Amino acid sequence: MKDLSNKDIIHVKKDGLEYIQFRKLLEYKDIKHCFTLKPLDFASNATYEEKKKEVEGNLDILSKELNFDINNICRPKQTHTDRVEKIEDGDEGIYNKKYDNVDGLVTDKKGKVLMLSFADCTPLLFYDPIRNVIANTHSGWKGTLQTIGIKTVEKMKKEYNCKADNIICCIGPHIRKCHFEVDKDVRDLFYNKFKDLINIKEIITYKPENDKYYINTAEINKQILKKAGLNEENIIDSNICTVCNSDICHSFRTEKEQSGRSIAIIELI
Ligand SMILES: [Zn+2]
Repeated sequence: MKDLSNKDIIHVKKDGLEYIQFRKLLEYKDIKHCFTLKPLDFASNATYEEKKKEVEGNLDILSKELNFDINNICRPKQTHTDRVEKIEDGDEGIYNKKYDNVDGLVTDKKGKVLMLSFADCTPLLFYDPIRNVIANTHSGWKGTLQTIGIKTVEKMKKEYNCKADNIICCIGPHIRKCHFEVDKDVRDLFYNKFKDLINIKEIITYKPENDKYYINTAEINKQILKKAGLNEENIIDSNICTVCNSDICHSFRTEKEQSGRSIAIIELI
């Protein structure tokens, strides 16, 4: 059985349920979190209605494992925006209209299960242990281009007086440079946006054999989060590629429209 555990990650395997957790976040007793693997599927915006029964069953399995209340789930309709919204009491729900077209959630309220879905896009889990504030952000390639990671940090600072140098950010499994192959149009968008990063030449590389470009979005997120004031040791990278591990990770590149969704959750307890 495959094991994705590494120095920063533990891979939990139970009967019919697998997920990963960040060792760093497990050090704190005030939060719970995970990123789910196959076989559980939590469906996309497009497939949610048809898979509703299955998703509800899977939420039941996961909520029992992690001991969270299904009624406190806050799951936005993610549409690759750079919008990060605050969760207050009464904002709970799956696809609550309050957070349509929202790709990041932040809160200081206990018991709110911030839940976002992923298939190759980058999950960013944030925790400020001083102010006791959490955030969960969907940074796909479009979100990364719009620097939604920085916008999440700004939201935590503005709404909750967080200080960037206290914030921890964990970068979950996503499509990494080995598989994030793009054409010149997407390469140009990234290059124009991030050309000032010191290691841009290593972040974006070109392969003449197939005339394709490869982009290291994890490195972009690390660099921009450091610029936003996070300490390097507080940026934890899972180092897991969802395409390399598509046997146990939902992967849009691999499975196209058929692809299921993993979820990342984080909750203050
Ligand atoms: Zn890969």
